Amino acid sequence: MLQFRTEGPDLIVAGQPLRALAASLGQTPFYVYDRALLQQRSQALRAALPAGIQVHYAMKANPLPAVVACMVGLVDGIDVASAGEMRVALAQGADPQHMSFAGPGKRAEELRAAVEAGVLVNVESFRELPLLAQASQALGRPARVAVRVNPDFELKGSGMRMGGGPKQFGVDAEEVPRLLGEMGRLGLQFEGFHLFAGSQNLRAEAIGEAQRLSYELALRLAADAPAPVRHLNLGGGFGIPYFPGEQPLDLAPVAANLAELQERAGRDMPEAHLVLELGRYLVGEAGLYVARVLDRKVSRGQVFLVTDGGLHHHLAASGNFGQVIRKNYPVAIGNRMDEPATESVHVVGPLCTPLDLLAERMSLPAAQEGDLVVVYQSGAYGASASPQGFLGHPGCLEVLV
Ligand SMILES: *Cc1c(COP(=O)(O)O)cnc(C)c1O
Repeated sequence: MLQFRTEGPDLIVAGQPLRALAASLGQTPFYVYDRALLQQRSQALRAALPAGIQVHYAMKANPLPAVVACMVGLVDGIDVASAGEMRVALAQGADPQHMSFAGPGKRAEELRAAVEAGVLVNVESFRELPLLAQASQALGRPARVAVRVNPDFELKGSGMRMGGGPKQFGVDAEEVPRLLGEMGRLGLQFEGFHLFAGSQNLRAEAIGEAQRLSYELALRLAADAPAPVRHLNLGGGFGIPYFPGEQPLDLAPVAANLAELQERAGRDMPEAHLVLELGRYLVGEAGLYVARVLDRKVSRGQVFLVTDGGLHHHLAASGNFGQVIRKNYPVAIGNRMDEPATESVHVVGPLCTPLDLLAERMSLPAAQEGDLVVVYQSGAYGASASPQGFLGHPGCLEVLV
């Protein structure tokens, strides 16, 4: 899991000691993303998957323009969830032909911007159809559309469920035939289906089952489609290990299952290419969050390392405002990598709330003021998914090295 090398006391990031990187940035806290690790991850995934499976990057996982630009060079397409993300992706060189735009409640201007750019819109509501048709007419450009289906099943064992049962995402599978009819009548350019059943899953078996069910549902729905399916987005949900005891996802069975689906698609939907959309799996392990110890306090026998970073920059590592049973992300002292863990400490941030925790009762080397606390697995859903305005502390830097 922890792919970053160490050398003596130092954690090494892109060939340099973390201490040197912190000194050259002139500030903590920061997120650092390692370009070589991003490349390695994408290449390893590519090598494991059958040829012809397209991989898209879901950029909400990490929308830093430099990261998006790097991912544009590594994957087959970019999936965006707002017109803001779409602008960033286009500015970083993403090809609109290989971009798709999903999300409930797309505003009329957003739909228009997608048609204008030539981006595939994953339709999530009947309401979007006339707006797309109007934009298409006004701009004299085809509106490229796929149907995001709210399936009648869910991805078992996911960190987050995004399909199955009543949901704000997608169009209920049973309503899709009517939606397809409407798309045909309005002259929208139908290209395929999008199914996304869940996220953060480490069980290959569950992912494979969801992909098989997604494929079969898409095949049934294709019977009512106004044009052949060319784009079949089977979602993703590939997880990364965050907590003690979690094992990395075993790609081999996922790949074997996809090879089978691809073979079936060759017969059932010969024009279709299969697409996976992945966020955290591609970028999560390539990023670190780094904060500096400001104070070492002892309260009634327990050690608190108070750092200059915390919940406001890294909500997920802090435990999401206490709404879930909190577990520690992997944490280290980045300038004491060769020292044994000799004490159990709490790593906290500077906010006036007991929820501002980066690690609770964690065994670490004895850390002092000025040391660098490192949170691993921080390349996804970090800075952009945290309440940086909360309490008015400085924001964090983000760098790709
Ligand atoms: C968020 C999201 C993803 C990415 O999820 P990860 O867990 O980061 O892989 C993919 N597809 C859709 C539709 C999403 O909303």
